[in-house]
Amino acid sequence: MEEIKIFGHRNPDTDTIMSSLVLEDLENKAGFNKVKAYRLGKISKETEYALNYFKVEAPELLEEVQPGQKVMLVDHNEFSQSVSGIEKAKILRVVDHHKIAEFQTSEPLFYLSMPVGCTSTILYDMYKTNNIEISEKIAGLMLSAILSDTLLLKSPTCTPKDIEVANDLEKIAGVNLNEYGLNMLKAGTDLSEFTPNELINIDSKPYTTNGIKYQAAQVNTVSIEDVLKDKEEIEKAMKDFMDSNNVDSFLLMITDIIENNSQLIVLGKPEIAEKAFNIKLKDNMAFLPGVVSRKKQIVPQIESVL
Ligand code: MG
Ligand code: MG
Ligand code: MG
Repeated sequence: MEEIKIFGHRNPDTDTIMSSLVLEDLENKAGFNKVKAYRLGKISKETEYALNYFKVEAPELLEEVQPGQKVMLVDHNEFSQSVSGIEKAKILRVVDHHKIAEFQTSEPLFYLSMPVGCTSTILYDMYKTNNIEISEKIAGLMLSAILSDTLLLKSPTCTPKDIEVANDLEKIAGVNLNEYGLNMLKAGTDLSEFTPNELINIDSKPYTTNGIKYQAAQVNTVSIEDVLKDKEEIEKAMKDFMDSNNVDSFLLMITDIIENNSQLIVLGKPEIAEKAFNIKLKDNMAFLPGVVSRKKQIVPQIESVL
């Protein structure tokens, strides 16, 4: 039987990796399909911490898919964020919690999308619906994904459903949600080994709206000031990225995961960001109090200006 490949978005975050592994487990246990989880890029330190904690191996790297390859997407739907060759692949399933854009198929598919804080919250429902037991490891992976995507259940993307699911998973996984979650998030804030070019690509997504190409990246930290020590080099890396990818505007969120604020650096078309967030950029920067979510507090505002 041919293998069906499951993967999340490029520049994988914890939800993308965990949800690929979790859907693999679910499909195999339910006997639906012969599937295998993959990743489209390097595992982050945060994700590595969670995988090590629950003693689960990272999925293999996938560079491209061949025409007709059967695939399932988690945690994304936009083709520009997916694997190369996705346009000609056969998409069987999508399980996602993002806006739907630049997505089309030639055949019917199973598409499950909910406006919740994390893909794993939706997958939890699929276990319940199909009456499949959630193992300790799988609970740990799903919990990690939820805590990552919702910044310990504090992000504006977090819904009552995410909280309810996280509380149940906490029991199955046998960890303390707050303590485990903070350690996991902190593991991801160690930026010491990253070059500026790597730093802007840790969690970076491309968008295109009305002919404007923009990139929105995010790094988590416990000290915005620390990250800004390399502001010049970071801006140079952003500029190089824009030049080589024909990007009109690049927004970098430097997010303080303890205080839940972000410092925004914007290069290219500053007027869009200034209008979107009602700010005046100074040295390409503005402080956005209470802003931690690209999905809810950055992208929709930019989209409405565009
Ligand atoms: Mg994601
Ligand atoms: Mg997600
Ligand atoms: Mg994210």
